[in-house]
Amino acid sequence: MDPPTGPTMGPYDYDMLVIGGGAGGLAVAKEAAGLRQKVLILDLLTPSVRGSERELGGSSVNIDSIRKFLQQASLLGKALQDSQKYGWKLKENVPHGWSELVGAVQQTVQTRSQELKRELKNVGVFYLRAHGKLVEPHTVEVTEVDGKQRRLKAEIIVIATGDRPEYLDIPGVREHCVTSEDLLSLPHPPGSTLVVGRSPEGLELADILFGLGLPVTVLQQPAPVLQQPALQQPALQQPALQQPALQQPALQQPALQQPALQHGFDEKMAEMIDNHLLVSGVHTLQNCSLVKVETTEAKEDLAGGSATTTQQSSKGRLRVTVLTAQGQTEQTDFDTVLLTAGRKASTRDMGLECVGVQCSQDTGKILVNERDQTSVDHIYAVGSVQHGRPSTTGLSVHAGTLLARRLFIEDSTLCDYTNVPTVVLTQMEYAFCGLTEEKANATFGEDSVEVYHSYYWPLEWELPARNKYSCYVKVICHIPDQERVLGVHIMGPNAGDILQGFVAAMKCGLTKQQLDVTVGLQPGSAQVFSSLTETQRMSEALMMRGNC
Ligand SMILES: Cc1cc2nc3c(=O)[nH]c(=O)nc-3n(C[C@H](O)[C@H](O)[C@H](O)COP(=O)(O)OP(=O)(O)OC[C@H]3O[C@@H](n4cnc5c(N)ncnc54)[C@H](O)[C@@H]3O)c2cc1C
Repeated sequence: MDPPTGPTMGPYDYDMLVIGGGAGGLAVAKEAAGLRQKVLILDLLTPSVRGSERELGGSSVNIDSIRKFLQQASLLGKALQDSQKYGWKLKENVPHGWSELVGAVQQTVQTRSQELKRELKNVGVFYLRAHGKLVEPHTVEVTEVDGKQRRLKAEIIVIATGDRPEYLDIPGVREHCVTSEDLLSLPHPPGSTLVVGRSPEGLELADILFGLGLPVTVLQQPAPVLQQPALQQPALQQPALQQPALQQPALQQPALQQPALQHGFDEKMAEMIDNHLLVSGVHTLQNCSLVKVETTEAKEDLAGGSATTTQQSSKGRLRVTVLTAQGQTEQTDFDTVLLTAGRKASTRDMGLECVGVQCSQDTGKILVNERDQTSVDHIYAVGSVQHGRPSTTGLSVHAGTLLARRLFIEDSTLCDYTNVPTVVLTQMEYAFCGLTEEKANATFGEDSVEVYHSYYWPLEWELPARNKYSCYVKVICHIPDQERVLGVHIMGPNAGDILQGFVAAMKCGLTKQQLDVTVGLQPGSAQVFSSLTETQRMSEALMMRGNC
């Protein structure tokens, strides 16, 4: 049923029109409708280059949840290996069924999207599967999937159009590569995969696909070399039932020449992820630039038959040419090339310039003030389309909810964009909140910053004797301010879940002394935070002595 239109409130069809039905748009729309406003939300993304479509719910439903499911699939593979030590008599080499996984995930995404539509209806938000474009300051041109167009007026307009994967301008990339939007539309397992890019998304997917038993290579572009101090051997958090054969500490493995994550992530934690991948067996093409991607033979159309160069197929491979740091070209064949090289704001073709909404020239994202207001008074932006703000689902929901309250009830609460928790869903999960070590040092000076750190060994890892030196925590403190905690970084199983409580504690001004007097929960990994005694300075001093 079409949403009602017409001048029900002066010159406007709606009190608020939201363009974009991701986490931010849905939150602001639902909250506003709950505050008795007449709200319309539009959501439609043009299909990806390879034709993949998305359901209502934006990245949160269509990407974040898929990442979580894929991570779980990969972790279960690891658990299968461990299970023998726990007495399960499994046959070796249990195969993984890609199509079963894809079917289950797609079904779940559709169900979640349907639930969202029901929820919108229940709270009284009108929804149209349609593209929105500003044509006048208060007027949006609405284009539905069947091409039907109309113009609707709203008193307030919220842009929540998010971002999507960016294609590199390199020969063969658009024709032959896939992005995270397409991964689960592949009708066959990706096979041997080249992941292009050092983004969190790239590393997650590399680790996950490897965990599913696929050969994976990560292509890392050239970057400066980084040094890393060693950490003292960890004191065991739990009495060991049996002494496992010690494996090499992860930090002492031949370190990659550069951290995998650059996007404002802590450098040492990024390097630990690199090491985790390296130790796991993920290959890396270091300091190589992508030159071109081509097919090794004519590929068959998925529908079966005619040769095409644009469809992924189970037949034929992709030949990737890279330029090495030494200036040589090298070629390697892969089944799939997965692009994770960056994301681009969905602000093009939206008519922003014609109504005067200003965007950053660098990122294309929308410039907003502390009230999420754009350069046009009645037009707001929330979520990852905003320039210069962290971008997470939780933050988009929070910001959208607060925006509606500020607009429609007397609540002036601003969204706090500090201490936003973030998680990277590699098998060895990495979660953090607050400052990186680099940012803390730059802000307060190295002498004012103390970094406590420790490896830890989850108790359940002892039976299968997993690597003792892969789980790690780091707490960054501001010495002159009673060692107030500036940043918490965790690498290990369920790091994101462990982190959540620390986020609340940091909002309350958590100090190192408060961590020390907190009773640890036995048996549990997070108790490591109650017994952090070693600082990075100590480790560095030890390393220096060791080197003398
Ligand atoms: C790979 C990846 C990993 C991430 N990992 C995490 C994580 O671990 N934890 C976390 O909290 N966050 C994570 N995020 C970030 C999180 O997904 C986003 O910050 C959040 O979903 C942003 O929500 P949004 O509403 O701003 O935009 P989106 O979710 O991108 O939604 C935008 C919506 O707008 C629609 N749209 C676009 N243009 C138009 C138009 N002109 N007309 C109509 N509709 C339009 C699109 O269809 C889309 O549904 C990750 C993001 C990515 C991409």
